[in-house]
Amino acid sequence: MGIHFGVDYYPEHWPRERWETDAKLMQEMGVQVVRMAEFSWFKMEPAEGEFHFEWLEEAVALLDKYGIKSILGTPTAAPPAWIIEKNPEIQPIDRQGRRRHFGGRHHDCQSNQTYRAHIKRFVTAMSQKFADNPGVIGWQIDNELGNSHGDLCMCDSCKARFQKWLEEKYKTIEALNDAWGTAFWSQGYNSFSQVSTPLITAVGENPSAMLDWKCFCSDLIVDFAKWQADIIRENCPKHFITHNYMCFDNKVDYYDLGELLDFVSNDIYPAGHWQKQPHQPESELAASHDVIRGYKKKPFWMMEQQSGMAGWEIMGRALEPGQMSAWAMQSVAHGADAVVFFRWRTCAMGTEQYWHGILGHSGNPGRIYREAKQLTHTFAKYMDEFEGSMPNPEVAIVHNFRQNYAFDIQPNHPELRYVEQLYKYYKALYEKKIPVDFVQDMDDLSKYKLVIAPLQYLMTPRLEQHYMDYVENGGHLVLTMRTGVKDAANLCMTDRELPGRLGEICGIEVPEYDCLIETTGGVLYGKKEYEIQKWCDIIELKGAKQIAEYATGFYKQSPAVTENNYGNGIAWYVGTEPGEELMEDLMSYFTQESDIETLGAAADGVEMMTRESEDKIWLFVINHTNDEQVYHLHDRYTLLEGEKEEFLKPYEVQLFEKNKS
Ligand SMILES: [Zn+2]
Repeated sequence: MGIHFGVDYYPEHWPRERWETDAKLMQEMGVQVVRMAEFSWFKMEPAEGEFHFEWLEEAVALLDKYGIKSILGTPTAAPPAWIIEKNPEIQPIDRQGRRRHFGGRHHDCQSNQTYRAHIKRFVTAMSQKFADNPGVIGWQIDNELGNSHGDLCMCDSCKARFQKWLEEKYKTIEALNDAWGTAFWSQGYNSFSQVSTPLITAVGENPSAMLDWKCFCSDLIVDFAKWQADIIRENCPKHFITHNYMCFDNKVDYYDLGELLDFVSNDIYPAGHWQKQPHQPESELAASHDVIRGYKKKPFWMMEQQSGMAGWEIMGRALEPGQMSAWAMQSVAHGADAVVFFRWRTCAMGTEQYWHGILGHSGNPGRIYREAKQLTHTFAKYMDEFEGSMPNPEVAIVHNFRQNYAFDIQPNHPELRYVEQLYKYYKALYEKKIPVDFVQDMDDLSKYKLVIAPLQYLMTPRLEQHYMDYVENGGHLVLTMRTGVKDAANLCMTDRELPGRLGEICGIEVPEYDCLIETTGGVLYGKKEYEIQKWCDIIELKGAKQIAEYATGFYKQSPAVTENNYGNGIAWYVGTEPGEELMEDLMSYFTQESDIETLGAAADGVEMMTRESEDKIWLFVINHTNDEQVYHLHDRYTLLEGEKEEFLKPYEVQLFEKNKS
């Protein structure tokens, strides 16, 4: 496509006389694309059927004159007041049964057919209007689907749709009663019409019902997006369709949503005002990029890359000189084909008046503008070559939304979070400069030397067989605590000891366990004692070799980590959550045993990542710290950008290449 740098632009926030200055400054900065209009319904349709696209056409044409293409957002995350006045029933109902009202965003019910009709009218008109506009190249559906929508919506429309979804899934009410275990607390149903959306109860909730509810909500969001995608595909066959995801967010199954899209996009705010530290650790950002690449197994776009302080009522930290560029190139290193900065100019009104952009409130180009310009002018010449290339990791971590939902419903331990658990394994690999893919559980695993599958809590015979085949055929697999506990309906399995059939490949059984609530424990590995957290599976060896043992608890000296040869492969079982130090040492062992290559050696703030095309490998070395750093590479590459090999200035990004032999 040849488009690699852009900004999110809101011309409707500014007088028309300013637009040309913006376009000129953007062109000088190296901007090739803008995203516009994703919150501008009222400006485009101030009353039903009265369309005013002139201002947007004018903006698109003006930008096009400066060589800048446009992506248009459908504004369906914020229906205007006149729609709400006419159809107040489209406002969503929360779990307390309260209506959520106009004045923020996402004040809409996604199943409501009246709202769908408004969307159909509007998106049809908008897509027809811009289908042949030479300045427009693609569409973003809605905005951050799932965001600001929380547990919504509990309305009658959603209830009826949930009942229909359940009836299609279970066919008979008896099958639902079995799957939900409604014998408990007298929860049996006579018919689907008795099943409600999960309004707040007096106490407790049914974990199986909640799992279905979360899957239903995900399906509803995908269907809501499809409603619009179908209209755009019909009217705009020349344009691409994408959507701006939010990293690991779990309100919608991003793999399912990705099937509607030409490519996925992501929004990332490392120094968001909600961060408890100055900014999110680079390892977590890297993991986010890797999972985004995994959702469609192809390169992605950054649709909102942070370019200034982020804030609503309060603000996060200012970006240090060089930090924005380091984050932007980190996105590219992990597979972004384009980086669009949020946003062009900090606006003066509304909830996000402190969400800063490339330009401040004054509109004068300053430090951030100069930095962005330097970045695009340095790297634009490589971006065409990078386009379509992918990292090629030897290690995969399994990621799955249903497991994520199940731990949201029952964390087991009060601090156990599914994605955090994945991060802990990821971070140890990241710090060893080992690239990682995120994959879905049923994906083909055979290309990976090492697969780490934490918390395989919900288990099916098919998935058991999949993991067994992988190890049988020579794969190295890491399984962990809370594996094989439940069936697909979120009921505990009773016909086996944990971890079920996977015990065969691991050579173990787990007849008991301990939850380390309000405490930590210890493990002896080698001759050293390490801290562990949250959980201890009490393991009996059935052919496996113990490689670490508990040093605390009544199960002291019993196995904590085991290894078993099975077929041509190895299965390791980690019965606890290793503390950081144990995690590092275990991962060193697993990766060495699996013959995994590391890209080099450096301090923790220095990142290394590669992208590969058919004949080339590019290596990115990124200094995420405000200090000078040294590093060492394990392979020979040619330096393309950067001053001095094995040395980095603060926040420096270096680029290397080599030919594939
Ligand atoms: Zn609803």
